[in-house]
Amino acid sequence: MFARDFAYQRAYQRKTHGKRRGKSVIIMRRRFDRRREEPRGPPVNWQPMTSVGQQVKNKEIVSIDDILSMGKGILETEIVDTLLPNLVDETMEVCTTQRMTDSGRKYKYRVIMLVGDKNGHFGIGVGKSEEVKPAMETAIREAKKNLVSIPLGCGSWECTCGLKHTLPLTIAGEYGGIELVLKPAPKGIGICANKVVRKVLIMAGVKDIWSFSRGRTSNVYNMSMAVVNAAKQIRYMKGAAYEVVTGSGQVAQQQPPVAEEAPEA
Ligand SMILES: [Zn+2]
Repeated sequence: MFARDFAYQRAYQRKTHGKRRGKSVIIMRRRFDRRREEPRGPPVNWQPMTSVGQQVKNKEIVSIDDILSMGKGILETEIVDTLLPNLVDETMEVCTTQRMTDSGRKYKYRVIMLVGDKNGHFGIGVGKSEEVKPAMETAIREAKKNLVSIPLGCGSWECTCGLKHTLPLTIAGEYGGIELVLKPAPKGIGICANKVVRKVLIMAGVKDIWSFSRGRTSNVYNMSMAVVNAAKQIRYMKGAAYEVVTGSGQVAQQQPPVAEEAPEA
């Protein structure tokens, strides 16, 4: 036996509290290995179907923020896979749904997945299937298509560090019957929020936050969509305010002189 086999055995014993010893290590090993087969990183043999996808493949677009600020939708998951190769995913909720038919009740799994790069981008997706794994895959694909950005900054009056550890300003969002307010907090506070908002904000890369929420906050989907809607509030800001908040104003100031010099020369 290899050292790895012992690790699997220990993991299995921990899971079953050491009671069920009938299962062989080889079966355990196969079950653990199956999980790692999912492909990761940028896609190979990808043939884009949309113009945005074509531009991403030709390296005309190199940042996901360009697509999001253009206001164009992401219709291919490969766009996200190419531009954000270190995206991670997390399960928010797995539940069953029922439907009555002539032959009895039909069950399906409904899975809510969260994806994020822990650097200002995250997405929520829902998938349904008769089995859990296909539902998860659908949900991850949907989450990548629904990717949103949340600008990070240091907006707290009690903090002067200037690092990207919290939000640049107070934002509010609502979804269903839920209202949510997110306030910038000084460094070291941590995420003061309920467990759904905490999960989403950790995935988005926020480290310190104060929050307020009311309504039916136990609903996982509505709660996480309230965070998405709050993040979108910054996207809907106009002109100079948006540039100040997202830091894109500096880039805009640098570009015009270059453009003016070019025709003269
Ligand atoms: Zn700070």
